[in-house]
Amino acid sequence: MGLSALVVRAVMALAAVAALRRVHPALGVAGAPVVAALWTAAGVYFPDLDLLLPLDHRSILTHSILPALVLARLGGRPAAGGLGVGTGIHLSADLFPEEWTGFALVQVPLAGSLDAFSPWWILGNAVLATVLGVAWLRTALPGAAMGRAFHLGIAALAGWYLLVEEGSLLAPVVFAGCFALAVRLSAPRGATGRTA
Ligand SMILES: [Zn+2]
Repeated sequence: MGLSALVVRAVMALAAVAALRRVHPALGVAGAPVVAALWTAAGVYFPDLDLLLPLDHRSILTHSILPALVLARLGGRPAAGGLGVGTGIHLSADLFPEEWTGFALVQVPLAGSLDAFSPWWILGNAVLATVLGVAWLRTALPGAAMGRAFHLGIAALAGWYLLVEEGSLLAPVVFAGCFALAVRLSAPRGATGRTA
C-alpha cells in the first residue's frame, strides 16, 4: 500500500517533470539528461503499474512499447527514451517467470491471455523498447560524452535490478543482448567500424 502510493506519486511527479520540460524550455540543456535519467529509473518499474490500474497483471498495455510511444508524442524524447530503456530492463526480467502460467501470461483487455505467445511478446517488446529507447536518448542528449555516461548508467542500473533485485542470471544476458544491439543500431554511421 505504502509502496503503491509512492510509485503513483513518483510517476505523477515524473510526468510533471516531462511536461515541464516540454512547456518550459528554460530547463534547457540540463533538462534533457535529468528527465531522461528519472524516466529510465521509473521505467524499470513502470510496466507493473497495471497492478494499480483496473487492468489484469502483465497487461499488454503496460508490458509493451506502447507507453514509450505515447510519451514520445506527449513528453518528448528524453522521457520516452528513458521509459523505453527502463521498459526493456523490466521485460528482460519478466522473461523468466518460474513457469509460463497464470500471472506470467500477457493479458489483453477483454480478450484474455496471449498464452504460448506471451514469451515472444515479452522478448519482442524488450528488444523494441531498448532499441527505440537508446535511439531516442541518442538524439535527445547533448554530446557523445553524455551518451557514453548514460550507457554506463544504464548498464549499472540493469545489472543492479536484474542481478540483485530480481536475482536472475539469464535476464542480464538477455538485456545485454538487447542493449548491445540498440547501441550498435543507434551509433552514427562510420562509428561502429575500426578506424584505419
Ligand atoms: Zn512486469
